[in-house]
Amino acid sequence: MDPKDEIKQKLDILDLIGEYVMLKPSGSTGFKGLCPFHSEKSPSFHVSQDRQNWHCFGCNEGGDCFSFVMKMEGMTFPEALIHLGKKTGVEVLRLPTAQSNTRARLLLMHDLAQKFYQKVLFDSSKAGAARSYVQSRGISQDFLVRFGIGFVPDEWNLLSSFLLKRGFSESEMIQSGLSLKRKQGTGIIDRFRHRLMIPLRDHHGNTVGFTGRSMPGNDQGPKYMNSPETPIYSKSHILFGLDLAKRIARDYGFIVIVEGNLDVVASHKDGVEQIVASSGTALTQEQLELLKRYTHTIVFAFDADAAGFTAAKKGMSLARSLEFDIRAAILPEGIKDPDELVQKFPGVWRELVAHSQPMMQFLMTHVTRGKDLRHIDDKQAVAKELLPAISEMSSVVEREHWLQVVADLLQISIDQLRLSLTPKTPVIPAANVSKEVKIVESFSKEEKARRILFGYLIGSVQTFDLFEKRLFPLLEDQKLWIILYNLAKSTYASGSQTAQNTFFSRIRDLLETHPMKESLQVLLDSSSFMVDQTFQDLPPQKVLEHIENLFLFLEGQTQKRDREALARDLRQAEAIGDTDTVHRLLEQLNS
Ligand SMILES: [Zn+2]
Repeated sequence: MDPKDEIKQKLDILDLIGEYVMLKPSGSTGFKGLCPFHSEKSPSFHVSQDRQNWHCFGCNEGGDCFSFVMKMEGMTFPEALIHLGKKTGVEVLRLPTAQSNTRARLLLMHDLAQKFYQKVLFDSSKAGAARSYVQSRGISQDFLVRFGIGFVPDEWNLLSSFLLKRGFSESEMIQSGLSLKRKQGTGIIDRFRHRLMIPLRDHHGNTVGFTGRSMPGNDQGPKYMNSPETPIYSKSHILFGLDLAKRIARDYGFIVIVEGNLDVVASHKDGVEQIVASSGTALTQEQLELLKRYTHTIVFAFDADAAGFTAAKKGMSLARSLEFDIRAAILPEGIKDPDELVQKFPGVWRELVAHSQPMMQFLMTHVTRGKDLRHIDDKQAVAKELLPAISEMSSVVEREHWLQVVADLLQISIDQLRLSLTPKTPVIPAANVSKEVKIVESFSKEEKARRILFGYLIGSVQTFDLFEKRLFPLLEDQKLWIILYNLAKSTYASGSQTAQNTFFSRIRDLLETHPMKESLQVLLDSSSFMVDQTFQDLPPQKVLEHIENLFLFLEGQTQKRDREALARDLRQAEAIGDTDTVHRLLEQLNS
């Protein structure tokens, strides 16, 4: 079997799209959610499990599992084929293009490096101190395996020579960021030396880079050293731990964000797995958009120091502009980060996460720490921190609630406090949120009727058989409709449908090789989803009534247009005195 067909057979489009979009049932067989390709507040993105297709009525995009992955992941078709092949265990012949070749080689190299580092940590006689170190941090074998953690001893080119033997070239290894050119002489050396090696994985679980934590006693370079940006690693697009957290986050309805990768490891130990780390850099819009595929609620738990507070405030503000619900897990005083909390008080972290606080509570806790609210200076400092956050709130109820809380805290009348709010400026969404929003033209009533009728007809061979002759004259010689109609007709002629191979899917397959494939698919998909929307939950008798009414409407419109055309011809014939034609047309008009 063709790998493409085999993948389609093994993959359920609902599972695939469900990894990116929160889908809710819509009608008896369909699902809908917020479109990942344009910015919207009410869902116009539809998925059909029966037909294994999707369509967005907002931006008029649609297709099957391959087109979804290509658009979502920015992949070419061969890349999407390999990607979905891996997912479904279908063997796909690899790598026709130079670009995907580079990516694939870099991924392979990182995969080998990760296994190499881990083997060194587990087995090498040079890793004794490293093994004691991870043990002292309470990271058991299970967690080392789960996160793929390894070790590289203090040597110049242990990994580089291993990879050379595996057939990688020096320039490939430099490109991967794992090796560096020697400053003097020729050859390469390892970038990471004498470090605990923590793999950085993308949300699919591919190792794309590393964080090397220096071992006690290694004062070469920074405490945490990261891979440089490479064709497979961009730090602004990666969230540490997301590959493990994404499914669980959806079950819990929220995800926790921390600063350090080792906070994530510690958190898993405490049973909180819906967690990711920004890896010590500022949260980016790309990272937040990635998260949005899985949840709309973020619980921040940044470090308790001043830098952590500033980073949390920035991240919260960006997340708010992307319409996340924001909460915070507030660390007990004197505890620096979740890692320390889990080491010292197992179980407390899990409780803190379960009882996260609204963002305002977090701000209040922080800005009042060490302040004496009987003193006017401290009062003012606290008000200065809190009021802007209240000003930003879009809900009046929320705003009034927190005003009252702050008024009580500072012992100032709420009316006075309200006066010092800056007027609320509309939240300007961060740039590029709505990538290429193309709002589709709303269809005329006629076009809508045509789509619903066509979509209904191709629902099964029986309905097609019953109605096709009646529909054909109503297609008005429109090129795309005629092509689609003819494809349906030849599908109809070519045999009966089976459960796996429905009438719809066979028409769709025929489109694959058509030069106008894309426009035809959009027409076909949108028609089928319009049927879902129009008839969902209607009893069959009502559906038939509705179909009849649509036919009558379209037939009426066609007749009206025909008569208008006749009347126009008649006027022309009268104008030039062509009496024969006048008589003939009059007869037609009166018939
Ligand atoms: Zn859309």
